[in-house]
Amino acid sequence: MLAEAKSIDTTIPAQTPADPAASLLGVYKPAAPVFVGGEGSELIADDGRRYLDFTSGIAVNALGYGDPDVAAAIRGALDAGVVHTSNLFRTAPAAELAAWLTARSFADRVFFCNSGAEATEGAIKFARKWAGAEKREIVAFRGGFHGRTMGALAATDRPAYQEPFAPLMPGVRFAEVGDVQALEARLSWGNVAAVLLEPVQAEGGVRPVPAEFLQAVRALCDKHGALLILDEVQTGLGRTGWLWAHETSGITPDIMTLAKPLAGGLPMGAVLVTEAVASVMQPGDHGSTFGGGPLVASAALATCRKIESILPEVRRKGTLLADLLGALALRNPGIRAVRGGGMLWGIEVDGAAGIVSRALESGLLLCSAGADVVRLLPPLTIGDDELRRGVALLEEAIGC
Ligand code: PLP
Repeated sequence: MLAEAKSIDTTIPAQTPADPAASLLGVYKPAAPVFVGGEGSELIADDGRRYLDFTSGIAVNALGYGDPDVAAAIRGALDAGVVHTSNLFRTAPAAELAAWLTARSFADRVFFCNSGAEATEGAIKFARKWAGAEKREIVAFRGGFHGRTMGALAATDRPAYQEPFAPLMPGVRFAEVGDVQALEARLSWGNVAAVLLEPVQAEGGVRPVPAEFLQAVRALCDKHGALLILDEVQTGLGRTGWLWAHETSGITPDIMTLAKPLAGGLPMGAVLVTEAVASVMQPGDHGSTFGGGPLVASAALATCRKIESILPEVRRKGTLLADLLGALALRNPGIRAVRGGGMLWGIEVDGAAGIVSRALESGLLLCSAGADVVRLLPPLTIGDDELRRGVALLEEAIGC
């Protein structure tokens, strides 16, 4: 016999918590302002104060805030009424986006997912499927960052992030960027499926990997039958002034991961692969319920097209920013190094967290990349005067 239905209490609790954010899991320490709007390179807080954004939502908002083309693409997809279908069915935007990406890269096929970490997971799975049962190992690098899920975290060289969650995915070994001999020794064991590398170690302190090392890794992968996976989640799609950061090194990978700026702020990741890798993946081998949905793919198409159209400008502004930061370093002996390119820069200086919080007080949003690197990630669309204003505010924050 059915139990008698309980009456449902529909009264709304009279008290809301004093701090609505108290209900969020405490894995972040967000800054105090509550942002309610954005325009160009600025975020607008609920008290009306404007902040110049040198974080771009951690390298996501490549086109800044309120880009009309991305907004129109999102509106168009909403008006069409199909936000999601799943990959059981075909939709046009994902296919068009995949064609756009393959036409401009080494890749022949694209798998869409929802984040950078998920792209790393896909890349590892595709590499292992390609390599077969005898070659399971992934070689990643000291200082690298590939995401927080169990496989991506295993390949992320951060003991503090890893240890509470062990055991992680087995089969990852770490090598040092620049140490060709050690990498060759590791690959010569014959059990490596893939080498996984960021062209610029962004979270690890904005450390560009020298082109010669990228070329050596490519050659070693070819010699020992391993795949090269480039993680361009943070560097890809214009951040360095080029569509792909690896372009200037003259090499191409077998697999490349993308995410952050891809869909103009909506969550989307992608794994780009050669036909050789694609050919081992069969229906059922991998999947994602949301991956490549029409809403995000429409936003991504508009974002990618616009980013491509402004690349020469990003390179020009990258040179301006390099000059501004070079002069800043000359005036401030506490700055030990300035590294980067395009709209991705790291300033090595003691007390990065203090600089970030002082800059916030004066209206500049910054983030760090470790304890002693302030990271600059302005929108690719930022104006010259905004770059000058941001560097002036940064100097104040450093000088305090
Ligand atoms: N790979 C790189 C190079 C990253 O910088 C990040 C995030 O910062 C990731 C992967 C993980 O991306 P997500 O946070 O979207 O999972």
